[in-house]
Amino acid sequence: MRIDGLTLDFFRNYLHLEARFDPSVNVIYGENAQGKTNLLEAVAYLSGLTHRSRYDKELIQFGVDRAFLKGEVFSRDRTFLLEAKLQRGVRRQLYANGVRLKSAGELPGIFQCVLFCPEDLYLIRAGAAERRKFLDECICQLRPRYAQALQEYRRLHEHKTRILRDSEEKPSLLETLDEFSLGMAKAGAVVIHYRAHFLEKLRSAAAEIHRDFSGGREELSLAYETVSTVRDPLGSVQEIFSQLLEHQERHRAAEIAARVCLSGPHKDDFSVEINGVSAKTYSSQGQTRTAALSLKLAAREIFCRDSGEYPVLLLDDVLSELDQRRQEFVLNRIQGGQVFITCCEDDRLGQLLQGKVFHVREGVLSAGPRRG
Ligand code: ATP
Ligand code: MG
Repeated sequence: MRIDGLTLDFFRNYLHLEARFDPSVNVIYGENAQGKTNLLEAVAYLSGLTHRSRYDKELIQFGVDRAFLKGEVFSRDRTFLLEAKLQRGVRRQLYANGVRLKSAGELPGIFQCVLFCPEDLYLIRAGAAERRKFLDECICQLRPRYAQALQEYRRLHEHKTRILRDSEEKPSLLETLDEFSLGMAKAGAVVIHYRAHFLEKLRSAAAEIHRDFSGGREELSLAYETVSTVRDPLGSVQEIFSQLLEHQERHRAAEIAARVCLSGPHKDDFSVEINGVSAKTYSSQGQTRTAALSLKLAAREIFCRDSGEYPVLLLDDVLSELDQRRQEFVLNRIQGGQVFITCCEDDRLGQLLQGKVFHVREGVLSAGPRRG
């Protein structure tokens, strides 16, 4: 899978961009605040990832009211033209080969990216929500049925939360509570089933990558943490469903008393340990970065095993804080699919990698001279 061409109009600090990329490695270098991350963000957007912006309007250039992105993508032995039209106050319009897509959820069926950015350190450092988001993003890209179940679960969860919250003023609302709980257990069982199976693959792939990364000195272990009554998250959906009902039953009175949803996979997490101790609590900066990157590279392997093609890998500012051996490991490991990698002006990256080098300055991309 690869992106061969990209056109941008009024996207962030790019007034107009037309670029042709290398099928292997693309190094993008430049000073701070010139547009390196913005370029990666544009590529990621075409795969349905919106990691950085909560609203499309943030992507539109200041002082303008619309933006346009077009990517020429090669995937599943075919060329696709993906287009996005953004306009302030209007829903985005997405097209594949001229046909309007119903939602961004259809993009990963055509084009997949795995992105690593400095904020990914939160995958290790922050609370459970970040890790759930990572799981959800990966599994939604892989399995449309998961995306459906998750959406259904979230809808019911929101509704049940409102019922519980408003039940003090309006006790009659509680009459419908069990119906929502039942629905949540049904959708929740599917969610847990998929998360457990994905995590199982992630666990072994990430451990292997991290082991190589650290020269065999560090063992990364991941463990899924879900609703306590679920004894085997890898078991059948039916079993998980009845175990979720059991948990709900036990927490019914407490939920009504506390007026919040206490039972269900909306609180799921997975633990990350390095050499048997919590990475969140004890890891150094470099270890944290290595662990987060191992998770991302593991996701890339899983995508590849699933579809037979490597997704496009976007590495934003990945090398800082890694010692030379870990840097070299990354650069070796990423060969294979198409990669975009950003770095600052004085990095040695351009000399280390085959492929194209681009320089970016004030939103203008130019074929960079190979430095050395
Ligand atoms: P760094 O090395 O610091 O990470 P960068 O090259 O990755 O820098 P970007 O994050 O791509 O920098 O941002 C480049 C510039 O784009 C920033 O100065 C930012 O203010 C600007 N920018 C962001 N959003 C918009 C927008 N909607 N319209 C115009 N400019 C924007
Ligand atoms: Mg940046």
